[in-house]
This record gives sequence, structure tokens and C-alpha cells, in this order.
Amino acid sequence: MMEKLSAEEFDRNYDDVLKRLTAAAEKSGRSVNDVTLLAATKTVDADTVNYAIEKGISYVGENRVQELLSKYSLLSPVHSHFIGHLQTNKVKDIIDKVEMIESVDSLRLAEEISKQAKKHNLVMDILIEINIGAEDSKSGFAPEDAENAVKQIAKLPNIRIMGLMCIPPVVNVPEEARKYFRKMYKLFLDIKGKNIDNSCMSVLSMGMSGDFDIAVSEGATLVRVGTSLFGKRNYSLK
Ligand SMILES: *Cc1c(COP(=O)(O)O)cnc(C)c1O
Repeated sequence: MMEKLSAEEFDRNYDDVLKRLTAAAEKSGRSVNDVTLLAATKTVDADTVNYAIEKGISYVGENRVQELLSKYSLLSPVHSHFIGHLQTNKVKDIIDKVEMIESVDSLRLAEEISKQAKKHNLVMDILIEINIGAEDSKSGFAPEDAENAVKQIAKLPNIRIMGLMCIPPVVNVPEEARKYFRKMYKLFLDIKGKNIDNSCMSVLSMGMSGDFDIAVSEGATLVRVGTSLFGKRNYSLK
């Protein structure tokens, strides 16, 4: 289990993350206000998340349905995203508990989100997940299928496509991730340029603790940060 994080440690971590974010934004001529910092809160208990919210974190993301459901009612008001692989049969459990599903990796999943959103009389914001490293082990649309996916998904009712998301391959040094972020940004701009009806390409979610500064310098508008805020967890991603 994760060791308990002290308030001082979180404060220090948060300060470091904001400094890195600001430096990366400034270096690439952007404003830090144009980049959303989302705290990835897996394995972090509700009290700690609430402390982070009190300190200024306004977006949180969970990647497991069970964990989201167990914390949901305990959290202070916050923008909540779902960022992990979502099984079609679990959509109904979270549809009214998050304001964005970042990890839409199949047409079937999009169709189910559309159906459940309609049932709840809401419009769900989504991102299209791209398997930017073409890895067998990862879900997401192949980059060459992305435009078509956006076109098809945009036709579904009660869904609003807000942009793209990716989890690039694990690399030895953060700098090696740059080529994937660059490819994502290009794809993002290409699709944005097509002005596909009923889609709004305004969010590009990429970059985690090890590489979010690089992602920002390559055009990320949302970064998902866990370890750098809350410390190491005894848990591996996928
Ligand atoms: C855990 C997680 C992150 C954050 O990863 P860190 O390396 O701890 O910053 C980002 N995105 C997703 C989808 C995650 O599951």
C-alpha cells in the first residue's frame, strides 16, 4: 500500500509540478493557463484527494470504475474525468458521475456511451484514445483510423467529441516520448482542420509525471499527473 502522504509533501510536490508546467508553457510561448492539470488519483484515498482539491487541484481522473465509485461520493466538488480502459458494460455505472470520458477506444464503447447518455438526458464529453505507438498491448484507435473514427462517433447522439488522448509507449528516457507527442499534435491539427460536424478539437490529453513538460512543449492542453503529485504507488499502469 501507498505510504501516507504528508500535507507538506503534497504541497512541495504540487509546487514542483506547477513550476515544471509553467516553465514548459513559457518555453514554448504558451500560457500555463492554457494547460489543464488533471490529478490522476488511482490508489490515493479520498481524504488526500480532498486535500489536493482544497489546495487548488480542480480536475481529477480515475482509471478504474470500482475505485471511482468508491470515492465518488466522498469527494469535494471537482471536475471528474474517466481516464482508463472502460468496459462497455460499466458505462452505465459512471455515466452520471464524470464529466468527460477520455479513453474512448472503440466505436462500440462510443455507442454505449451515447445510449446511456441519452437515457440520462445528458451530453457526454469524450476524447478519442489513439494508440500512438501502435502497441498490441494498448487499446485505442490506430492513428490512420482516427479521422474516420471521429467522423463516425461524431454522428452519435448525446456525445460531444472534445479532442484526442494518448498513452505513449514506455520509454527509457522521457525525451524519447517527444516523437509520439509530436505525432499526436499533428494528428490533432489534421483532424481539427477537417472541421468535422459535431466535433470540437480543443483538448489534447497527453503527458504524465515523467514527461508532461515535453508533452506541453509539443502541444498538450491537458496533462494527467499522478506520481509527481502523490508520490510513488505500488501499482503499475496496465
Ligand atoms: C496513472 C495514470 C496517469 C498518471 O501517471 P503518473 O506516471 O503516475 O503521473 C496518467 N494517465 C493514466 C491513464 C493513468 O492511468
